Amino acid sequence: MRTTVDILGVPVDNITMGEAVNIVEGFLNQDKVHCVFTPNAEIMMEAQRDAEFKQILCSGNLVVADGAGVVLASKILKPVLKERVAGFDLLCNLFERFSNKDVRFFFLGGKPGVAQEAYQKLLEKNININLVGARNGYFSESEEKEIIDEINSSKTDILLVALGAPKQEKWIYKNKDKLNVKVCIGVGGSFDGIAGRMKRAPKFFQEHGLEWLYRLYKDPRRFFRMMDLPKFMLLVVAKKMKLYNKD
Ligand code: UDP
Repeated sequence: MRTTVDILGVPVDNITMGEAVNIVEGFLNQDKVHCVFTPNAEIMMEAQRDAEFKQILCSGNLVVADGAGVVLASKILKPVLKERVAGFDLLCNLFERFSNKDVRFFFLGGKPGVAQEAYQKLLEKNININLVGARNGYFSESEEKEIIDEINSSKTDILLVALGAPKQEKWIYKNKDKLNVKVCIGVGGSFDGIAGRMKRAPKFFQEHGLEWLYRLYKDPRRFFRMMDLPKFMLLVVAKKMKLYNKD
């Protein structure tokens, strides 16, 4: 039985990082596609504007709190989430868990060459995952059948989809019944992070819930997207005061 916390209409699993890794491992023993989503405050706001996207997030088999903002929201709305389970960290933990194991990964998304570069970086760190295919995320709809055939014929267990939100969640949802995989995870810009093309915030920023500030400093074009953060907190407070009820 899942224990979830309702954050503005999206049920977020109330679990630790260790539990999340175990749950994904458990999915590998079941013969169906499981979808894993990792919403942060920006994604939660997008879900308020886009009902279809919200319904897709709600349909996830595992939905973890990627951002500090989501954990903070749970402190206001209650019950409090056990901890933040950042998508990037979840991915790194899964790579460690399945290093030298017979679990087949497919990397879909990112600019040409980035997925392969990320894989090389993992090998340099002695993380030996079984990568059975990689493909950049710049393709047309007419190429999708070929991509899905490639994923299916590679007998992928875990498909990582890095197309950015909400594109990746919508892609996963649209195609999940055609995919012969055990787990699909929307991983945003994680391949860029692993490949070293996008530096993660220093520990201080991560530990103080200020990763957003570091990302803004690195890429000021994110400013308008980031306005979603204060809007999200305002909506959470409004929800607490029963002034917002759009579930
Ligand atoms: N991307 C892609 N295809 C697209 C649009 C984006 O593969 O059509 C990739 C892009 O190269 C980047 C990732 O998706 O690696 C999105 O990163 P971003 O940081 O915007 O996503 P977030 O982690 O914030 O969801």
